[in-house]
Order: sequence, then structure tokens, then C-alpha cells
Amino acid sequence: MYDSEIYQLVEDITSINGVKDGIGLLLEVHDKYKSDPKQFIIKLKHVIDDMCEEKEYCYKCEEFAEPKRHKEPRDYGDTVVYETICEMTCPLCGKTFNNGNE
Ligand SMILES: [Zn+2]
Repeated sequence: MYDSEIYQLVEDITSINGVKDGIGLLLEVHDKYKSDPKQFIIKLKHVIDDMCEEKEYCYKCEEFAEPKRHKEPRDYGDTVVYETICEMTCPLCGKTFNNGNE
């Protein structure tokens, strides 16, 4: 018996890419990592983390980030002006997503 998560993964990949390309991709991954499966798990997690950062999705809370605005003081000569900063933020845990906009 195989487990249902792996079946789901194979089914999703073959339905997106077609059976020929989907199975080809999966066999490539299988052959590349069969001698060191731990590397697959480590790299899979990196890709998940990067993808979620890019898509602004917090997988711990299963929520997409929302824009959150706050004001930050900036010295401007003798006065202080407040700049409105907008950051994509998980509405539940407060994790922020930079998405390359430093
Ligand atoms: Zn969160």
C-alpha cells in the first residue's frame, strides 16, 4: 500500500503536467534523490518556504498576508515627518513578508 499524500502528489502533478511529463518529472526527482533522500526533504522544505514567501502565504496559520499600514518617524531637518509604511503581514501571527521590497 502507498500512502495517500504521495498518491495525491503524483495525481496532482500528472493532472497539471499530463501523465507523460508529470511521470517524467517525478522519475527525475526519484532518480536524483534515491541515494540521498534526506536531501530531498531538506530541499523540499526550502522550496516550500521560498514559495510561501513569494506568494505571501503563511502555512503555519493557513492564511494569506494582508497589507498592514503603520507610520514610522523620519527626521526631516528640524521636524519629524511620519512616513506610512505598508507591509504584507499574516493577519493571525503577524509574520511579515518582504517579497524583495526592502
Ligand atoms: Zn501566520
